[in-house]
Amino acid sequence: MCKALIIGAGGVGTVVTQKIAADPVFTDVMLASRTKSKCDAVAAAIGGGRVKTAQVDADSVAELCELFRAFQPDIVVNVALPYQDLTIMDACLECGCNYLDTANYEPKDEAHFEYSWQWAYQDRFKAAGLTAILGCGFDPGVTAIFTAYAAKHHFDEIHYLDIVDCNAGNHGMAFATNFNPEINIREVTQKGRYFENGKWVVTEPHQIHRPLNYPGIGERESYVIYHEELESLVKNYPTIKRARFWMTFGQEYLTHLRVIQNIGMARIDPIIYNGVEIVPIQFLKAVLPDPKSLGANYHGQTSIGCRIRGIKDGKERTYYIYNNCDHETAFKETGTQAVSFTTGVPAALGASMWARGLWRGAGVFNVEEFDPDPFLAELGPQGLPWHELFDTDIEV
Ligand code: NDP
Repeated sequence: MCKALIIGAGGVGTVVTQKIAADPVFTDVMLASRTKSKCDAVAAAIGGGRVKTAQVDADSVAELCELFRAFQPDIVVNVALPYQDLTIMDACLECGCNYLDTANYEPKDEAHFEYSWQWAYQDRFKAAGLTAILGCGFDPGVTAIFTAYAAKHHFDEIHYLDIVDCNAGNHGMAFATNFNPEINIREVTQKGRYFENGKWVVTEPHQIHRPLNYPGIGERESYVIYHEELESLVKNYPTIKRARFWMTFGQEYLTHLRVIQNIGMARIDPIIYNGVEIVPIQFLKAVLPDPKSLGANYHGQTSIGCRIRGIKDGKERTYYIYNNCDHETAFKETGTQAVSFTTGVPAALGASMWARGLWRGAGVFNVEEFDPDPFLAELGPQGLPWHELFDTDIEV
């Protein structure tokens, strides 16, 4: 018997709830979020009374504990926002629940994300005999599991790691973000950062870029940005000499982003408007398209993977492992676009790995610390098939 509680009824939460509801290892499933009507809509679409729903403010440890004590989940899947990571981890510790998320903690008043806040829970989860699984979406998530798989099967030492994330989809809107606009804009407007020879190198936003070829898609301009899995991967694979993360952006997207920043709409500090305190980026989120609504007209594919150079049996080799996900196929299955799908499927599968005892341990873990084999064996059948290229030109 295993009870799963999902927190957050956005695009990602919709996919996670569908996948967890379809997995017989979970005897009881609940979806809770700030707005209960959104949970009810997801539960109604699944049908059969399989998914219970509840309202919760995940900023409040007391409210979370009340819900946890009533439902008694074995595992809590946090797909609300990164701001809620610590309160949900606190509530898990207080009520004896295991934990999984897809994005590392960010304070609301500082566009800065790193694992230190969550790694600081290591001793408490260990002492409680509970598992906390961090960053189990696609990136972070599958990208780190791909790296673990490469290290286990194809390399004695990984030297160069380039994670490449291409969204070649078209949603027909002038400007929209693929996941929560506030979190997305905070992420892509920050300074670039990559790891080289034991140090972090900081660049201006989008300073380093070049065209890269993506399988089945072709050439797309790709930009070095900071992404959180770099922090845990260089710690867990100390042979890495350089680790970078590349993301594709279209010119239209970058122009909109620049205007949004220049006119102050990306500000995260509160301002007074007509006597009311508002945060510009939160207001912007309210007027931008809901990422969940993009799916109906989204065409094209995402392509995310790891390009790796290193040593096997004394010889240098290259390796490219990736998944392509089609927006229309994702929409047909789940009613959401590929970015929600590629995040939600791994989160549900990670929870299933835990529930079946395949990923266990007391403490706080990044996903690359678990065995990648059982996870990757099921990722394809769950809708995210992956492919490998050996000793090809990986461009980076
Ligand atoms: P959405 O904004 O669509 O959904 C977030 C949900 O969380 C909403 O239903 C929202 O409620 C709810 N929520 C927000 N604050 C609270 C709160 N205080 N208490 C309870 N519920 C709350 O985001 P997405 O679904 O696009 O993204 C979800 C998460 O997935 C984010 O953390 C994002 O960073 C992460 N992500 C990870 C990726 C990866 O590959 N690792 C890729 C993409 C996303 P309401 O409906 O009332 O607003």
